[in-house]
Amino acid sequence: MKIALRDDDTCYFTSPSELERVYGDVWQRVPVCLATVPFAVGYPRAGIPESEWHSGRRFPLDANSELVAWLRQRIAERRITVALHGYSHEDYPDGFEFQAAPDLDRRVAEGRAYLERVLATPIRVFVPPHNALSKRGLAAVSRAGLNVLGSFLSFRPSNREWDRRTLANWWRIQQFRRATARDRSDRFVYPHPLRYTRHVEFGCHGLIPATTFEDLASGLEEARRFGGDFCLATHHWEVDDRLKRVLMQFLDHAAQFPDVRFVTAEDLFEPAHS
Ligand SMILES: [Zn+2]
Repeated sequence: MKIALRDDDTCYFTSPSELERVYGDVWQRVPVCLATVPFAVGYPRAGIPESEWHSGRRFPLDANSELVAWLRQRIAERRITVALHGYSHEDYPDGFEFQAAPDLDRRVAEGRAYLERVLATPIRVFVPPHNALSKRGLAAVSRAGLNVLGSFLSFRPSNREWDRRTLANWWRIQQFRRATARDRSDRFVYPHPLRYTRHVEFGCHGLIPATTFEDLASGLEEARRFGGDFCLATHHWEVDDRLKRVLMQFLDHAAQFPDVRFVTAEDLFEPAHS
């Protein structure tokens, strides 16, 4: 069983010390996939100065040279990998970035090329801002051939462009619902990668302020029961002492299973037993 860890919202506003605070004693156990915003626009959250919450100004990652040098170093040490987390992460009146922004193909291509150049690392995974991806947004990411690491993405064929694997994947989801006695409105995380023609999708379990160790342990148990894998997703800027304890308790718990391998998020998309 593969277990990976994803952290969202690294951007110009992030300082290395924030990431060290949360992951300094974690990434030697499990590498952290930092879903990174290439040209962040400020919005209201801890860690972004209030003066930028509504300024609409765009901040390229490489304007924070201390952060870039630190990221390159951690990548070289294999402590972190980097995924593309939108382009600007800005919200629009009618939706989040990958639901509502214009020119999504350009945003994916430019954002990816920029991160690859600035951080000197290949980018193979896309994490949608707010986990929100419209049909158009998913099509743009898929055309670029990036894999999607999300949470609670829609599987309905009407919310996605059709390809020859869509129906079979939808059927797998229905079977999983039935096997776990869930109905259409119940949330769940499907524990296997879903392979479409141009990209692969994998869903994450959230570590947010309401999450308990028991939540994660039962999610893990379900994934194990179905022979699946597991990815935990969090935001460093909301990891306080309690959430950090939940994270460490979960890692200790998972490490007890002899078949568990802690892997990079990119590894989740590789075929099993490769
Ligand atoms: Zn985000």
